[in-house]
Amino acid sequence: MGFATDAIHVGQEPDPATGAIIVPIYQTSTFVQEGLGKHKGYEYARTSNPTRAALERNLAALEGGRFAFAFASGMAAINAVMSLLKGGDHVVAGRSLYGGSFRLFERVLKDFGLSFSYANTCRLEEVERALRPNTRLIFIETPANPVMEITDISAVAALAHERATPLAVDNTFMSPYFQRPLQLRADIVIHSTTKYLNGHSDGVGGAVILNDAALAERLKFIQNAAGAVLGPFDSWLVLRGVKTLAARMLQHDRNGLAVAEHLARHSRVKKVHYPGLPSHPQHELAKRQMTGFGGMLSFETGSFANAKTVLKSVRLCSLAESLGGVETLISHPATMTHASVPEDERNRIGITDGLVRISVGIEDVEDIIADLDQALGSV
Ligand SMILES: *Cc1c(COP(=O)(O)O)cnc(C)c1O
Repeated sequence: MGFATDAIHVGQEPDPATGAIIVPIYQTSTFVQEGLGKHKGYEYARTSNPTRAALERNLAALEGGRFAFAFASGMAAINAVMSLLKGGDHVVAGRSLYGGSFRLFERVLKDFGLSFSYANTCRLEEVERALRPNTRLIFIETPANPVMEITDISAVAALAHERATPLAVDNTFMSPYFQRPLQLRADIVIHSTTKYLNGHSDGVGGAVILNDAALAERLKFIQNAAGAVLGPFDSWLVLRGVKTLAARMLQHDRNGLAVAEHLARHSRVKKVHYPGLPSHPQHELAKRQMTGFGGMLSFETGSFANAKTVLKSVRLCSLAESLGGVETLISHPATMTHASVPEDERNRIGITDGLVRISVGIEDVEDIIADLDQALGSV
């Protein structure tokens, strides 16, 4: 079946007890057993819950993986993946990772004996140079925020596999609708379901999808042992959100491209970072490994004062962190999402004081553009 059909149906057969077309929210902590060791597949809701299990089956299908696990947040999902490692292990990670991932690595996991090197993963030779004999994981995010750097997933996978090292890809920005890292030979896919998968800015969650049975068994053990599971109501919200993922992503993509093209022509905009523009340095790679470009972009206003004016003047676009919801969000990476990145590193990556990020929503695109125009008019 096609992607949109799978999104609506996999894991979501009508409820066998009642015929309800929507998977019920099994708001229960435990399951009554018929006798010792005799149960219906569920014992205790941390270990497994039918609503969460439905979501996990669905997400596995969408990413083309055999196993999926849902967590309480994207960070909980990443922490579970890192728990596959042990003290003394080394990780090569992208230099433009989501700030929360960087914070987890540097300020929590380092104290448990893991070490990290950060590379510009857009350059294969930099990834290769960062590898050490004790490297046990390569962790990338593509596209990476806020300047939308693209990493060649299959090239990094080939490099990783030469050393028998697994490759994890944070696929939050593209969603499985536009990018399927497992097909590009990545080993582990991670999502903050908070973003496009849920899509309605009303829940926090995370997921890990993979094919390797041994890794999956260990991850399932960690999910149950550490217990940062996605609750039944939040699982249900993601299941509902995913039903419209294909329709939403198409519209995010259309609106994203229209806004990017408009801003690229705007006299008060110095530069636009969007992988769908031919001016993006990795446009060809983006076309090769993604089937769309999505709704995330950033643009250069030239100064902090200009950025501040734009952010103060928007009316339809909401000033907020986060992304991937139906409503357009606008933010200032240097002081918001990327405030914890040291200034010289920010400059190296291109996170200037004048940079503004937009998560383009699915409103009428003329309204989004008109709002940005009037805000830029105040500059
Ligand atoms: C938001 C985000 C995360 C963290 O997810 P939470 O659900 O906020 O814990 C991880 N990676 C990326 C790319 C994100 O955008």
